Amino acid sequence: MSGSTAQDNPNQPSRTPSFSWDRARAQLTDLGKGRINLAYEALDRHMDGPTADRTALRFLTRDSLVAEAISYRALNDRANRFANVLATLGVRPGERVYGLSQRIPDLYAAFFGAIKHGCVFTPLFPAFGPEPIRQRVEIGEPAVLVTTERLYRRKVADWVQGVPCLREVLLIGGVDEAPPGTRDAGTLMDEVSPDYATRPMDAGAPVLLHFTSGTTGTPKGALHVHEAVITHHVTGQYALDLRPGDVYWCTADPGWVTGTSYGMIAPLTNGTTLVVDEAEFDAERWYRILQDQAVSVWYTAPTAIRMLMRQGPELARAHDLSALRFLASVGEPLNPEAVHWGREVIGLPFHDNWWQTETGGIMIANRPDLAIRPGSMGQPIPGIEAAVARQGEDGIELIEEPDQTGELVLKKGWPSMFRGYLHQEERYRKCFDDDWYLTGDLARRDADGYFWFIGRTDDVIKSAGHLIGPFEVESALLEHPAVAEAGVIGVPDEVAGETVKAFVTLKPGHTADKALQKSLLGLARQRLGPAVAPRQIEFRDELPRTRSGKIMRRLLRARELGLPEGDLSTLEGGSNE
Ligand code: AMP
Repeated sequence: MSGSTAQDNPNQPSRTPSFSWDRARAQLTDLGKGRINLAYEALDRHMDGPTADRTALRFLTRDSLVAEAISYRALNDRANRFANVLATLGVRPGERVYGLSQRIPDLYAAFFGAIKHGCVFTPLFPAFGPEPIRQRVEIGEPAVLVTTERLYRRKVADWVQGVPCLREVLLIGGVDEAPPGTRDAGTLMDEVSPDYATRPMDAGAPVLLHFTSGTTGTPKGALHVHEAVITHHVTGQYALDLRPGDVYWCTADPGWVTGTSYGMIAPLTNGTTLVVDEAEFDAERWYRILQDQAVSVWYTAPTAIRMLMRQGPELARAHDLSALRFLASVGEPLNPEAVHWGREVIGLPFHDNWWQTETGGIMIANRPDLAIRPGSMGQPIPGIEAAVARQGEDGIELIEEPDQTGELVLKKGWPSMFRGYLHQEERYRKCFDDDWYLTGDLARRDADGYFWFIGRTDDVIKSAGHLIGPFEVESALLEHPAVAEAGVIGVPDEVAGETVKAFVTLKPGHTADKALQKSLLGLARQRLGPAVAPRQIEFRDELPRTRSGKIMRRLLRARELGLPEGDLSTLEGGSNE
């Protein structure tokens, strides 16, 4: 691995014991009267120093593994041009701009350009079908949609006439023939100046609207504000070990919150070079990228790691991954097996971290300065107070004893905390109990302060009085060499209330038969004890997933019990990938 280690980082919390959000804020720019602009911190701030000529984006097209390099200065100019286009078209600060595009450089320019102009940006996942896109447009009423000609024709053209709020559709990524009602953003950008005075914004002015799924399937629009960039910036250092000059690859799509907070913002405020790959997952391609681009920090997700594990270690070992210094994972629980695999096959462990759309940034992490506990999400980052709570008679009660399961709660007041669900004030209010934000996740904290994920409050299984988190059962099954993936649910049982049922997919070369079933049950009993181990195991060719890759336990359960699937089968799921 590269000479320097994560522990060398002077920015790590153990070396900055006197953390406060005010001190963190002081790392960034005061644009006068306490004003701030998220895009200023990512781009403008670097223009007078050596970072201006550093590569900001290394862009790989679908068909090529040779990167196009775009400097900070060039990206800033391009974003300025986009901001000027918005100004020319009469788009006002505070209006919403939606982005629907595959990962191409002008998506990044549009994102930062809109934010420089004071607009609120909403990234949309480009693999959405027309309906989720239309639904989000209707909820958020953007003034501008930035998309590509292809996506417009396939997913927008059919319904856009009925949406009066949308004044402009701007096409990026090259246009053959702009359909009626759209404009070629590239041509407009060429016609305007590359200079733009980024607007100073109130710290609490909205900047991002991220849609996430609700339990009912109606998307919720979580609103974030300009000062969120303070969290992005410092968690980039604390949880991902980002340092100026790093080559950093975040595999999440910018259509999800991870892909913006850590795939656009944090890497640029921290002066790293960001690898952007237009293509989708492919094991061999991914190893080639890590090798050829000499990636030093890699932020990915458990599903992707499990897919790499499924290919076996040989493919990884056939590549030179020695530039890597730090690996991190988010979005779903990271099974201990994956942490060990990282160590054995890549030579570095994966650092799990936890957050959600509403928190805007990483809250709990296996930080570089802490020993990893495989299977744990780690400890809160500086400035974050996390606790485990139960419902008491007058609201929540914090549980002080270690190793108790309860709802994970966070003390209000970190800069990237969401400030509302669009048009849903009541729903927002219900997320808080006094000073505490209720995450909807169940967790326990051990005696050393590490947090362990148990499940979503609505995923948890109660069997013969035991609270069972599906994740611990899935992790035990994944230890078996034949298992590629596991999804675990509770099924009704007259005696126990519920019992545990597991759905399992196998790695290539293994046969789904009674002997294997027995061996899996044996392993689970041995690891978990009979009260927690599954009673039933069913083999599947694949497991249902959200668009962002999370295993959909609720859908497994609905199908198993013959319940109406309702919106479940179209749920786009979390944005944390
Ligand atoms: P989203 O807001 O859609 O990004 O999803 C956030 C949810 O994903 C969290 O509330 C957790 O349920 C889950 N999640 C995210 N990161 C982790 C993690 N490291 N371990 C376990 N669950 C996670």
